[in-house]
Amino acid sequence: MVMVLEKHRDFLRDFRGDTIHTSTLTIIHHLGLLEGLLALPHQKVTTLRGELQGKTFTMADFSRLPGRCQYMMLMPQWDFLNFLEEQAAMLPGFTLLRATRGVSLRRHEGRVVGVNAEDDAGALTITTPMVIGTDGRRSMVRAAAGLQVENFGAPRDVMWIKRPKEAADAGWASGHGALRCPGEQYRASAPSHDPLPRCHWCRGRG
Ligand SMILES: Cc1cc2nc3c(=O)[nH]c(=O)nc-3n(C[C@H](O)[C@H](O)[C@H](O)COP(=O)(O)OP(=O)(O)OC[C@H]3O[C@@H](n4cnc5c(N)ncnc54)[C@H](O)[C@@H]3O)c2cc1C
Repeated sequence: MVMVLEKHRDFLRDFRGDTIHTSTLTIIHHLGLLEGLLALPHQKVTTLRGELQGKTFTMADFSRLPGRCQYMMLMPQWDFLNFLEEQAAMLPGFTLLRATRGVSLRRHEGRVVGVNAEDDAGALTITTPMVIGTDGRRSMVRAAAGLQVENFGAPRDVMWIKRPKEAADAGWASGHGALRCPGEQYRASAPSHDPLPRCHWCRGRG
């Protein structure tokens, strides 16, 4: 029996997780799910080109990587997560509880024996021999378990926006991504599943 708690009602978080890398695709292949994933709308990127102050260069060539897929896949993260949920739902004993937030760990005689949670209807008590914390960077499970975080710091903030497509973006459709810094020092455009390219500005923290 596996029960997954997700505090949101859906997986619709934009601006993250667009790229599915070759190592992940290889795991998906080992799980027997690759054909199903490839049937969903996606783009494949085999090389990444950089463009910096008028000069172009190859930043990454995925065709040389080991594994099942020699490309990076572009797909909205919510399509990927919905696909995984659909596949998991076909297995006996899998349940996803949406709009259900884990609040604290339950303990008995010093051992973790479950989770206290809440949904729209109120409090929930879940008893289980194993709790796995996959609740992101501000993990309740990690904090409640008293695990220490080693903070490496983040030297930069990144702001993402969508911008109109330019002629120079045409290569993305043919399987070549481009990271472009056309003039301004900290501006770069990245390949995206989206019809509108994404653009980010990097700046010092703060
Ligand atoms: C702007 C941006 C762009 C990114 N782009 C990419 C990319 O292109 N490719 C890539 O591979 N990675 C990308 N990443 C990184 C990637 O999104 C993260 O590494 C990944 O999402 C981390 O996965 P996770 O499962 O640890 O945490 P999360 O994805 O944060 O998942 C945690 C989940 O737990 C839920 N949750 C939290 N607290 C609770 C609670 N108490 N009870 C119940 N549910 C809870 C959250 O709602 C969430 O759904 C990007 C990140 C950002 C911020």
